[in-house]
Amino acid sequence: MRFLITAGPTREPIDPVRYISNRSSGKMGYAISEAAIEAGHDVVLISGPVHVDPPRGAKMIAVSASDEMFDAVHRHLPDCDILVMCAAVADYKPANVSSRKIKKRDQKLSLELTPARDILASLATQDRTFLVVGFAAETDNLQENAQKKLRAKNCDVVVANDVSGSDSGMESDENEVTVFFRSGEIRNISRAPKKNIARELVKLFVNMRENCLTKKMP
Ligand code: C5P
Repeated sequence: MRFLITAGPTREPIDPVRYISNRSSGKMGYAISEAAIEAGHDVVLISGPVHVDPPRGAKMIAVSASDEMFDAVHRHLPDCDILVMCAAVADYKPANVSSRKIKKRDQKLSLELTPARDILASLATQDRTFLVVGFAAETDNLQENAQKKLRAKNCDVVVANDVSGSDSGMESDENEVTVFFRSGEIRNISRAPKKNIARELVKLFVNMRENCLTKKMP
């Protein structure tokens, strides 16, 4: 199978030296890439700026802003069987990017933000030949929000983790996830190193993709 995986945060520029970003470490997306390669699959990994070694055998594409990630995903989508949108793509970006460094003044400064383009929501919904996996990091109402996201963003699967606690999945080496399926099925993968969770997820995605294929055959 051909995996297209996104990982890490995006950086939304404010001016030539400043940006808005988030705490995503990229570890989960990199672990999924490694697990997929280990299982004999091909991986294209589109990554925001992280401090994790690139998985051996993955084709790496480095991006920074959400618009670059958007373009890279659309460019590689026609050649994938399973899209895993693990990246913490910005929801908002500065409405205007200053071409010069903004000077410090003794006054309040307001930054106007505009919604970033949603990559998942931009994908075609008809006659899709690839499986779409979204991720959800939630601080409250995990199940309700994840199921809403599954429908709103037309995903086949949403992998959700609770990021409200100090031992949350965000920068940690461990994670605990709940997987939500279109059918309404819910599966928990209990606390374990991200590498183990990644192996479970890869098996699950491949099974789902194979089942989709058999269903579509006459
Ligand atoms: O809405 P929220 O950002 O919580 O949704 C998370 C999921 O949506 C992740 O799979 C993430 O990669 C994806 N996403 C996206 N484009 C955005 C923001 C999030 O594809 N601009």
